[in-house]
Amino acid sequence: MLDILIKNGMVIDGTNSPAFKVDVGIAEGRIAVVAESVEQQAERTIEAQGLHLAPGFIDPHTHSDLTLLVEPRAESKIHQGVTTEVIGNCGGSPAPLLGAIVEEARAGATSLGLDITWASMTDYLERLRHSGTALNVVPLVGHNTVRGAVLGFNDVQPTLEQQAEMERLVAEAMEQGARGLSTGLFYPPGFYARTDEVIGLARAATRYGGIYATHIRNETNRLLEAVAEAIEIGRQAEIQVQISHIKLEGYRNWEGVDQLLSMIEDANSQGVRVGCDQYPYTAGVSWLAYILPYWAQAGGSKVVAERLCDPEIRARLRKDWEENRAEWEDRGGMRDWTDLLITNCGPRPDVQGKNITEIAADEGKDPLETAFDLIVVSQGQVECVCFGQLEDNVRILMRHPLVVVGSDGEALAPYGVLAKSKPHPRYYGTFPRVLGRYVREENVLSLEEAVQKMTSVTADRFGLTDRGVIRESAWADLVLFNAQTVADKATYTNPHQYPVGIPYVIVNGVVVIDQGQHTDALPGKVL
Ligand SMILES: [Zn+2]
Repeated sequence: MLDILIKNGMVIDGTNSPAFKVDVGIAEGRIAVVAESVEQQAERTIEAQGLHLAPGFIDPHTHSDLTLLVEPRAESKIHQGVTTEVIGNCGGSPAPLLGAIVEEARAGATSLGLDITWASMTDYLERLRHSGTALNVVPLVGHNTVRGAVLGFNDVQPTLEQQAEMERLVAEAMEQGARGLSTGLFYPPGFYARTDEVIGLARAATRYGGIYATHIRNETNRLLEAVAEAIEIGRQAEIQVQISHIKLEGYRNWEGVDQLLSMIEDANSQGVRVGCDQYPYTAGVSWLAYILPYWAQAGGSKVVAERLCDPEIRARLRKDWEENRAEWEDRGGMRDWTDLLITNCGPRPDVQGKNITEIAADEGKDPLETAFDLIVVSQGQVECVCFGQLEDNVRILMRHPLVVVGSDGEALAPYGVLAKSKPHPRYYGTFPRVLGRYVREENVLSLEEAVQKMTSVTADRFGLTDRGVIRESAWADLVLFNAQTVADKATYTNPHQYPVGIPYVIVNGVVVIDQGQHTDALPGKVL
């Protein structure tokens, strides 16, 4: 007896083989049979005529570490067909929480109404298992988290003992279930780290068969240098590298796409395994405070906000802005202030959805002062999107076989505390946008290629066995979608909108999205 039988769907198995019409039977969480016509009895039959059946999408780059605890249904992701999320990216992980990192984590958690009750990766994962999740979760341990725990948020270099302590924390998190190390070398305190420090930590992850996922040091004027550093870390630590949210940000850098891709190809031909993920949009997300020079970002978000209350420091920053404007634009990935759109500012919800130029005009202020004031009023917790990329480059990168799809988004919901911000639309739209806009409308990829970039390639990189493919005995993580109608609906001004054309999502053999509705099932596992 099967639990579920899916009849007459066009199966895209995840390996880039052409779609073929077969029936798929599920029993005990796994795919039990894939055959032309399955006659076995089933508890439930889903008629899939006119739909495509693919492996559930694997999102290699997310920041759902806390939001999954707030809303385990993972609405914005599961509605896209995502059945597995990799969390702990960009150097920031939910554990280990020690030292100076605790207060920083608490600030983020409090805004979500969440209590931090864990310190180690074991404790965090236990809490996640206890509350349950709609989708599977793959945790990484973050360099910024570990560095913040041992060294705080200041511009310092580790002693030998401190380096050993950071490596020990990475190894411990790996032992407790992390599947790799992430870095955010663009962010504090990661940007203080030298390459050797990261190589040491990556080696600790290598010993457990982990991956090295990196938000590289610079995605704008020093992009190629930063990619070279990521490759060097992969080479020396002998670890698979995943360059997160690959992009060419800042209009001065738009010409460099061929050079960027050939560097990555060369590394692979020399035996360094380097892959990338990408979100299908021309705007990125950042904290507004990251436009500041590094010295002004030191000390953690509260300290940064306090610093900006000092008129002398403001004057010094203004002078720096006037003299080194290109560097400010580089950090912000912007051409001018209209490129920065505020998405999340707790104490000032009225500015969400407006760009800095508009807010400044509304308030009769100068844009730079406006930016400073928003950082102060939010205690450093103001987020923005920046329109810094070229559409042609998005397509060129998407087409490359080493680039997979990743949202760089959080699991949110259009209700409750997670609906309060105006997030980047990629949180709700990434995967259906690739299938609708870039496959159906623009023919950038074939449907089979796109699915492969959402499933098996990512599963291989993260060492997820029996996931990301449709074949007998694989886990039954599946998505049914209508290739004619699948589309993202989320926009920058109205982001909390589910996509359309994805009627069924199954996780570990359990139906989570049923005719477009969430069933409240929480069958996800920590992988
Ligand atoms: Zn990042």
